[in-house]
Amino acid sequence: MTVMARRKKPSLTCSLSVLAILGVLVLTAWAGWRAAAAADQRRQEEARREAEAAAAEAARPSFTARLEPATSVDQGDYVVVAIESTAKRVITGVEASVFDAKLPLYQFAEPVGSETAQVYYSSFAVGSARKAGDYVVSLRVTDSRGVEKTETLPFTVREKKFEVQRMTVTGQNAALASDDSAWAYDRDLVNAAKAHPTAKPLWDGDFIKPLEGEISTEFGQIRYVNGVLTSRHSGLDLEAPMGAVIHAVNSGLVVFVGPLKISGNTVIIDHGLGYFSSYNHMSKFSVKVGDSVTKGQEIGRVGSTGFSTSAHLHWTMTVGLTGVSPWLFIGKQPPLPFASYVDTRK
Ligand SMILES: [Zn+2]
Repeated sequence: MTVMARRKKPSLTCSLSVLAILGVLVLTAWAGWRAAAAADQRRQEEARREAEAAAAEAARPSFTARLEPATSVDQGDYVVVAIESTAKRVITGVEASVFDAKLPLYQFAEPVGSETAQVYYSSFAVGSARKAGDYVVSLRVTDSRGVEKTETLPFTVREKKFEVQRMTVTGQNAALASDDSAWAYDRDLVNAAKAHPTAKPLWDGDFIKPLEGEISTEFGQIRYVNGVLTSRHSGLDLEAPMGAVIHAVNSGLVVFVGPLKISGNTVIIDHGLGYFSSYNHMSKFSVKVGDSVTKGQEIGRVGSTGFSTSAHLHWTMTVGLTGVSPWLFIGKQPPLPFASYVDTRK
């Protein structure tokens, strides 16, 4: 018994040591497993966060777009479309359309902080005869990732009351009023002169009137000549004595000088971004095509050439080819929705 008891003592110590070592091993292994599991979970969470961020980045639109100055306009008004790329996005293609027609787009680069955003500018006329109602500008934008997005910008055209004017004319004026080929001749020359608007603003601050004179025919008047509906009055008629000085309503480039059949002696000035002023029935020209004119500069004299019954100036403002109310320009200028423009075409 004593022998066995003596033998048992070291054996117990030994067992305890083994247990302790085993315990430490198990604890170490468990701690290691715990750490590995936690690291694994962290990696999974990180991967999930990265995937979420990537999905959010992929879903982030490549552009913002808006209409200025308002989304509710009168017949005879015009609307500006402003499109801007968002941070770190590169627009590779833009298409805009309204009233079933493509809009011209003028591209700029706009510095935004340390970045440069792409800015696209367009404007369109709501003709005085455009039916009142709800419309949209449709956009299709492609970015450098090949992602294509469409968007519609809604706007409303409000009914505006235009007066009806009935005039009786005789002789040459009566013949001109019903001469379709004369109207077509003028339209073709005017449209050709306006075919390539300068892609940057040329105007200098607010527009002015070309001369002070009583208004004999308002913009948009529905005109019957000898009982026949001819057209909406595309501009303002300003009464002035023969030979009175006509001033450029703003700075720009002279794109047409010459005689027209209905409009008489005509000057057209390109003010950039699709805005044009035109001056009809003149007696004398003071500028030629290609001249740069400054606001207020004399461009010619009042006359009564073309379809005209007395000395007056017919002054038209167009956005693209369509006449808009000149009242939107007197003492005002078109909205430039971005702080500064850097013309990328220079
Ligand atoms: Zn007129």
